[in-house]
Amino acid sequence: MDALKHSDNAVDGTPESVWQAWGGFDALPELRPDALVPLHGKAVFVAPHPDDEVLGMGGLMVHLARLQRKLALVAVTDGDASHPGSPAWTPERLRAERPIETREALQRLRAFNVEVSRLRVADGKVRQSEHMLRDHIARHLGADDVVITTWRFDGHPDHEATGRAAAAACVQSGATLVEVPVWAWHWSSPGDTRLPWGRARRLTLDSNTHARKRHAVEAFSSQLEEDASTGHKAVLSQGALAHWLRPFEVYLV
Ligand SMILES: [Zn+2]
Repeated sequence: MDALKHSDNAVDGTPESVWQAWGGFDALPELRPDALVPLHGKAVFVAPHPDDEVLGMGGLMVHLARLQRKLALVAVTDGDASHPGSPAWTPERLRAERPIETREALQRLRAFNVEVSRLRVADGKVRQSEHMLRDHIARHLGADDVVITTWRFDGHPDHEATGRAAAAACVQSGATLVEVPVWAWHWSSPGDTRLPWGRARRLTLDSNTHARKRHAVEAFSSQLEEDASTGHKAVLSQGALAHWLRPFEVYLV
């Protein structure tokens, strides 16, 4: 994820209780994972930072693994900029440990056969590698495949650059693009017209899937613990986590 550095409500964000009181999510058409990814297609998850694949898309990964669809993960950065200036969490340590957290999280999702490609782009600088990323994604895509990634207008530069690269790769290959708002739940609010609600679909997570996702999120301890060496709070606040731990996920199709 890596903390959001700009946008409205960037500090406190819209509380999840406000989203839940809204009721607009109940009106969204349900996403059907079996219909989304054809039997012979592949689902390619593209994560700007280690944890985006679980926070935004973990429930869908559980469903698709259960359906025995082919799964791939493109890990764009290793998230080495999440603790600027920290003596304990240096970029080197983050580059070593955050990919291990993702590996553990995938196990907890029971997504055992995910083909992972790790691009090691510098955290915060995805825009500079956008064309390389587009070409990498497009290289292995067929028209039956589906790319799931962060929304092009999510409010975090890496999320947006990743979304743009994935969208361009889908245009090149004829694959289907599905986008996921991650930080948007933080900076936007119910009914916000900046979100393309007409494209929004809801994936309800049954209790088993929801529990797996919760357990997988807990694997990202570097993002969940306070940093004693700087006195900084956890990168992912409890308030922000509440959005991603809803018993449903929202996708833009
Ligand atoms: Zn991220």
